[in-house]
Amino acid sequence: MSSATQKINLLNFNSTDLAAFFVEHGEKPFRAQQLIKWIHQLGVTDFSLMTNLSLVLREYLIANTEVRAPRIVAEQKSTDGTRKWLLELDDGNKIETVLIPEDDRVTLCVSTQVGCPIGCAFCFTGKLGFKRNLEIWEIIGQLWLAVRALSPDGTSKTHAVTNVVLMGMGEPLLNFENVVKAVDLMLDDLAYGLSKYRVTISTAGIVPAMERLRELSKASLAISLHAPNDELRSQIMPINKKYPLRELIAACKQYYQNEPKRVVTIEYIMLAGVNDSVAQAKELVKLLHGLPCKVNLIPYNAGDVSNLPGAISYRASAQEVIDSFRNVLLAAGINTITRKSRGADIAAACGQLVAKKSD
Ligand code: SF4
Repeated sequence: MSSATQKINLLNFNSTDLAAFFVEHGEKPFRAQQLIKWIHQLGVTDFSLMTNLSLVLREYLIANTEVRAPRIVAEQKSTDGTRKWLLELDDGNKIETVLIPEDDRVTLCVSTQVGCPIGCAFCFTGKLGFKRNLEIWEIIGQLWLAVRALSPDGTSKTHAVTNVVLMGMGEPLLNFENVVKAVDLMLDDLAYGLSKYRVTISTAGIVPAMERLRELSKASLAISLHAPNDELRSQIMPINKKYPLRELIAACKQYYQNEPKRVVTIEYIMLAGVNDSVAQAKELVKLLHGLPCKVNLIPYNAGDVSNLPGAISYRASAQEVIDSFRNVLLAAGINTITRKSRGADIAAACGQLVAKKSD
């Protein structure tokens, strides 16, 4: 329900919930599929244009419901094509969404919470603290907006966003129900129809929730690992004290047990002098032994928020250090890529734009 207008926001429903909603209101459940297609695939918000719905239903929808995404209040464009949107929610809170175009894909990085309770030492969002979980409409609304932004007149036949990573502000698995339902829509053929290989939920390692996620969603799994041993990981990611590496890696090994062709993605931010030595690369090889995985090495994006209170002092590893680290992993047979640093000129690292605008 929207607090502003008291109308029911239809972006809050996945297909199953919308069918139940229609049955409750004396309609046939297949109306849900028709409406999902109008709203998400075609981007139509004017119910009077939905001509395959009965007149009575259209009138009901006009009087009682709406399709409303968060409001874009700022946009930054990087010279490398990365676009970052600052979105305002009904309660005035702000979140970020980042669009990253590459040669063969367009990835949208989606937020799942306002702030984040995990408090990783190197993360700007962590510094902002935690305010609340995002609702379904606030999560799927980010994709809805991005698709519209890429095809403003709705003429594009296919959605230009090819990949979604739930890797923006927040820990997705601490907003479990809403994240799973928003991801349902991303994978739904009548909505965005993205492949399960192209929608990735990234977690800092909420082990019990990973077990539930495996049962309830087909999306891909990524782990924000960032350290090869418990001592360092607990220092830079306090969640490790609760779910140490032994438990986390065991949960990863179980994750795709029934789908042997799928692998877990390991995200590893390269922090100069902290986690980037050759010895630590060897430790990582040992840790990942027996886990079907691929590793993404991510150059740290220090951004330009050094004037903010509680500024973060981490620095990015030098390119040759990253290369040496990667070579150790590759030599051990671990599929490893170094991600390109994106949007460095627009504070594209998670939380930086909100931090700047709140300063
Ligand atoms: S890195 Fe992710 S999990 Fe850690 S504080 Fe930042 S948003 Fe939260």
